[in-house]
Amino acid sequence: MKTLIKNGKIVTSSDIYVADILIENEQISLIGNDLPVGSNMKVVDAEGKYVFPGMIDEHTHIESPFGGTVTAPWKTESVAAALGGTTTVVDFALQSKGESLMEGINRWQKRAEGQSAIDYGFHIGVTDLRSETIKEIPAIVEEGIPTLKVFMAYKSDLMVDDQTLFQTLEASKKVGALVMVHAENGAVIDLLQQKCLEKGQVEPYYHAVSRPIEVETEATARAISIAEIVGAPLFIVHVSGEEPAQKIREAKAKGLPIYAESCPHYLFLTIEELKKPDFEGAKYVCSPPLREQKHHEALWKALQDGTLQAIGSDHCAFNFKGQKELGKGDFTKIPNGGNGIEHRFTLLYTYAVRTGSLSLNKLVELLSTTPAKVNGLFPKKGTIAVGSDADLVLFDPKGRKTISVETSHQGLDYDMFEGFEIDGIVSDVFLRGRQIVKSAKYIGTLGDGKFQKREPYGLCYESINYQDKIPQSV
Ligand SMILES: [Zn+2]
Repeated sequence: MKTLIKNGKIVTSSDIYVADILIENEQISLIGNDLPVGSNMKVVDAEGKYVFPGMIDEHTHIESPFGGTVTAPWKTESVAAALGGTTTVVDFALQSKGESLMEGINRWQKRAEGQSAIDYGFHIGVTDLRSETIKEIPAIVEEGIPTLKVFMAYKSDLMVDDQTLFQTLEASKKVGALVMVHAENGAVIDLLQQKCLEKGQVEPYYHAVSRPIEVETEATARAISIAEIVGAPLFIVHVSGEEPAQKIREAKAKGLPIYAESCPHYLFLTIEELKKPDFEGAKYVCSPPLREQKHHEALWKALQDGTLQAIGSDHCAFNFKGQKELGKGDFTKIPNGGNGIEHRFTLLYTYAVRTGSLSLNKLVELLSTTPAKVNGLFPKKGTIAVGSDADLVLFDPKGRKTISVETSHQGLDYDMFEGFEIDGIVSDVFLRGRQIVKSAKYIGTLGDGKFQKREPYGLCYESINYQDKIPQSV
């Protein structure tokens, strides 16, 4: 069956125009004016609506163990993503100690398979790099996992040393894989946490006190330097403020292939949230922590000038009751993470596009096109073009709503963005041509979402000399 979307205003990272879109066999087969309605053709009227490419969230932690508990599952979070206009996530799988990378990926695959409303891929977090793990990297890239993650934080758990970062970069570079890094100095954080606890500073606010921006700035600079020595590209996740962004800006000015993202909570929330009484500050405990208000402006500037090229949600949903509460009396035991998978796109539309901070094209670039490119999904995903997957979001700019845990679909018992007024409604969503959201209601089936084998991004460039070959901005 063919689907014809009529008269929508198509928005890509470079264009805005009114046209019809014909969908056949999961893909966009034709874009044009006044396309004829054929027999056996479903027609969708998009008059007055924007038609965006499906949003891509390159940073999620779904059904993921952390600190002795586990985040909300695929069956809720993938539906919430769909209702928010996201049609693909790249989720962080983790290698356990003693495990191969593929064993880690397989555990994540089993949880997602048949349970996801939207398409998905995985990054693999490297926690135990042995000689056989290094040898395994080409094989996982073959399996469609061309992005690896390394943690410089979480001492005695996920943290790896600089040698591991170096060797992961070196092995990844050879096969065009991209290394992502959580840049915070875990050893220094560990000491600062102990000092807080010794003084009886156990409340959620001290989570932020023990992770000052300097630990992020230092690790960001160190990761960049190590990548420079190796001559490898690097993706820095969840940049939270001005000084680390400045390190990235300087590296890019030198011509280094450094990519970086921020997240909605660093753009819209501040450290003040962690002071909420009755332990409610724990709802806002994430790493890096929320920063002071002044960092918002610095992050907007970094997004506008291309220092930061993507906005991932870092969605990592724990309930307040029974999960965040594990850290009562000791902030170091609060599971780290917040929500955003459902609201990322509409928050950015309301508080960046409507306020004039970002153009509609830039919004698509940050939330869909660049994540697709960097993660090896482009041009299959991340744009509206003939031959691309028919992942499409119809957006009614006249809709209004207020974010509330009562109406959100994410599987947690609070919402970090409670009370935020939203302009516009995601009315309809198509995943490879199949309609999964209609009139803002989920109508799909769990399992519609399929694993996406991704291409190694670095191999887009023939030479191994990345500094010369990778453009400054994508
Ligand atoms: Zn994360």
